[in-house]
Amino acid sequence: MKLSKRTDGIKPSITLALAAKAAAMRAQGVSVINFAAGEPDFDTPQRIKEAAVKALNQGMTKYTEVRGIQQLREVIADKYQREEGLKYTRDEVLISCGGKHSLYNVFQAIFDEGDEVVIPAPYWVSYRDMALLAGGIPRVVETKRENGYRITPEQLQAALGPKVRGFVLNSPNNPTGAAYSPDELKSLAEVLESHECFIISDDVYDKLVYDDFEFKNIVSINSKLRERTVIINSLSKTYSMTGWRVGYALGPTPIISTATKIQSQSTSNPTSFAQAAAVEALQGPQDEVAEMVREFQRRRNRIVEGLNTMDGVECLMPEGAFYVFPRIGALFGKKTKSGKIESASNLTDYLLEEAQVVAVPGEDFGAPDHVRFSYATSFEDIEKGCDRMAAALKKLD
Ligand code: PLP
Repeated sequence: MKLSKRTDGIKPSITLALAAKAAAMRAQGVSVINFAAGEPDFDTPQRIKEAAVKALNQGMTKYTEVRGIQQLREVIADKYQREEGLKYTRDEVLISCGGKHSLYNVFQAIFDEGDEVVIPAPYWVSYRDMALLAGGIPRVVETKRENGYRITPEQLQAALGPKVRGFVLNSPNNPTGAAYSPDELKSLAEVLESHECFIISDDVYDKLVYDDFEFKNIVSINSKLRERTVIINSLSKTYSMTGWRVGYALGPTPIISTATKIQSQSTSNPTSFAQAAAVEALQGPQDEVAEMVREFQRRRNRIVEGLNTMDGVECLMPEGAFYVFPRIGALFGKKTKSGKIESASNLTDYLLEEAQVVAVPGEDFGAPDHVRFSYATSFEDIEKGCDRMAAALKKLD
C-alpha cells in the first residue's frame, strides 16, 4: 500500500513510547523507576480543576472560536506584558491543543519546501520531524558541552546560510535543561538581526528555572526581532496540565492568522472547558508553581550528585526544566553479561533490564553519547534509582 512520502523518515515520539513501556511494566508488577516522564508528577492544582467543573456546569460544552476564547487570549497577552514588557493584542495569540500543536501549525504556516531550519542539538525530539513535515530541511548545529549545550553567536552566524528561513530557540531546553541568560540572548539576537529568518522561541519551561536564574524571552531583549518571532508556550509543564492540552503561540498577525487557518481545517478549537481552566491557571495565585519549582530544584540537586558519583557518567547542573542529560560515552566498549555497550540505547536497555530503570537514550535528541533522565518523579525514587544504577554500572567490565 502506498502511503504519503511526507511521512517517510518521520519517527514516532520515543519519549512517549518509553513512558508507555514503563507504565506497562509497572502494570505487570515490576518495580520500575521511571526517569522517562516528560511531565510533572504533581496533580493539577485543585483551583484549576474546579474552574473546569464550573465551566462544564455552566454549559461551556460547545465549540469555541477556533483560535481560542477571547478571555484566555487576553490573559495570555497580559502575562507577556506583565512579565516581559511585551505588547501583544488578543489577535496575536492562538490557543491550540498543547504547545506541540501550536508549534506544528506555526511550522506549517511559515515554511516551504526546501527551507532550512536551524536547530541546535541536543534538541527536543519533535522539531526535526515538524520541520520535515512542513517540507523543511533541519540544519542541526551541535552545541558543545563546554558551552553548557548552548549555541554560541559564532556557531549561529556560521549556520545562517542563504536558505535558512528559521531558527528554533528552546530555553530552558529539553533535554539538557540549559537556559540562556539575558546577555547570551543579546548576543544571539545581534546575529539574528542581520539575517532575515523566523525565530521560534519555545518557552514551555519558562517558569521552571532554579537558583534565581532569570528567564527572559529574546523579543524582550531585542524588540527588532518581534516581527519575525513566534513565542510558543503551554500550560502543560507550569501547571501540571499535560493531559488538558492547552498551549499557545504569540506572534505577528500574518503568522498567527495563517496558523489559525490551518487549525481551522484540522482540530478547530482546543477543548472549551480546558480553556476556562487555563484562564484560572494563569490568573489565580501562583503558589503551587513556586512550590513545585522548590521541589524540582531539590530533586535536580540530588540526581546530579548521584549521577556524578558513577564512573563514566558526567552530568552538568542544568538551569531549568526537569531533565538532566549526562554524557555517558565513556561507558562505550564496556561489557555486560551478554554483550557490549556500544550506544546510548544499549545503555538504556541495560539499565532497564539490570536496574529496572527507564531513561531515554540520546540518539533522538541528536546526542548519541548522552542519556536523558527526567526528575519529574519522587525524591525517594531518585535515590533508589541512583543506587540501582550505580550497582548496575559497577557490574560492567
Ligand atoms: N516544547 C518542548 C521543549 C517540550 O518538551 C514539550 C513537551 O514535552 C512541548 C513543547 C509540548 O508540550 P505540550 O504540547 O504538552 O504543551
